[in-house]
Amino acid sequence: MSPAPVTVDKTMDKLVSLAKRRGFVFQSSEIYGGLGSVWDYGPLGVELKKNIKERWWRSMVHEREDIEGLDAAILMHPKVWEASGHVSGFTDPLVDCKKCKNRFRADDPRIKGTPGQPDAQCPVCGSKGTLTAPRQFNLMFKTFMGPVEDQAAVIYMRPETAQGIYVNYLNVLQSSRQKIPFGIAQIGKAFRNEITPGNFIFRTREFEQMEMQFFVKPGSENEWFEFWRSERLKWVEALGIRSEKLRWHQHEKDELAHYAKDAYDIQYEFPFGWQEFEGIHNRTDFDLSNHQKHAGKKLDYLDPKTNERFIPYVVETSAGADRTTLVVLCDAYREEEVAGQEAAEGGEQRVVLRLKPSLAPLKAAVFPLVNKDSMPELAHRIYDDLRRHFNVFYDDGGSIGRRYRRQDEAGTPFGITIDGQSTQDQTVTVRDRDTLKQDRIATTQLVSYLTQKLAG
Ligand SMILES: [Zn+2]
Repeated sequence: MSPAPVTVDKTMDKLVSLAKRRGFVFQSSEIYGGLGSVWDYGPLGVELKKNIKERWWRSMVHEREDIEGLDAAILMHPKVWEASGHVSGFTDPLVDCKKCKNRFRADDPRIKGTPGQPDAQCPVCGSKGTLTAPRQFNLMFKTFMGPVEDQAAVIYMRPETAQGIYVNYLNVLQSSRQKIPFGIAQIGKAFRNEITPGNFIFRTREFEQMEMQFFVKPGSENEWFEFWRSERLKWVEALGIRSEKLRWHQHEKDELAHYAKDAYDIQYEFPFGWQEFEGIHNRTDFDLSNHQKHAGKKLDYLDPKTNERFIPYVVETSAGADRTTLVVLCDAYREEEVAGQEAAEGGEQRVVLRLKPSLAPLKAAVFPLVNKDSMPELAHRIYDDLRRHFNVFYDDGGSIGRRYRRQDEAGTPFGITIDGQSTQDQTVTVRDRDTLKQDRIATTQLVSYLTQKLAG
């Protein structure tokens, strides 16, 4: 067998560059040289991510009778993380190079030989026999609460939002008068001191989770597990992601997290390979049982129908808001050949984000064809009117072809051009980002036209 040809995929580089150029994502603290694997969302990125989070919240909380929302604090009692197993079990085996001081995951594929043995070779400086044997390294960020930096005041930045849900499960149950089965959903930041982060916003040290913990009667967890697998895949597909780029991955025994009995990931084929961006986990009664033990508080549930007492099992759906945003960006990114009038005006090639219109940061851009003949006045009136309904953008800079191209890169689904005819008969052209077709629409019909196109 001959080795597969090496193809260097430049898609990620192009996407990172577009994200910066158009204001989706910036490197954190860039003027100081950047902070490793921490990213900031710019004007378009914050809208895109917010649209994804709102869609998640609507589908998981508002559209369901049996799920309640929660926003728990990032900082929690340190005993939470002892009970959850994160203090002892949330570790990665790491090796250090004694010569160049670089640190690697023990399973780093670039390491040749066995770390700790004379044959092992450092992937950075190339020295042999300088790598230590693997040591466990906790991934939680530590900080100090209160004025005294002593051991008693050590607390952690939460490595997952789930624990805020578990410790509030009785509060939510009682205040909302829910009955099991029911769920609690939360969107929030989490922090992990990853040693090999990377791939843009795929693996970052600060990230946002969209998690839902569904509490069920023991014995019914497999049924609910299948239910939520199916629901979550449907939700992902409804984002407009191409289905051939999606697949399931079931965790092998040695991949399972310390709390999980069964776990499936939804994977996407990123330019850097198949990777997960959402997981559905059967966490059993692991977390609630441990909190009951460590806190010394009863966390069992009394079934009002059968009078049975039990600690609920938990089926978790855990999605990364940043990773889902990356999936949406990667899937929308296209380089296309353009023909006809548009090619003459804006060039024969374009980069376009084919974002689902309801997810797009900007819904429409308003362009006066030229900056004279009453066109800017009419364009501004239309812009002001549309702004009360949608996030829209006004652009009068450069040729109309170049203005279309800029909005293609931003993923803006509609371009509204005010031309000579507009000032005569109060109509405008609406250009569709994907088909490049133009409709002529009365200005009075614009809001309903766009509302219809943006649904779904
Ligand atoms: Zn080295």
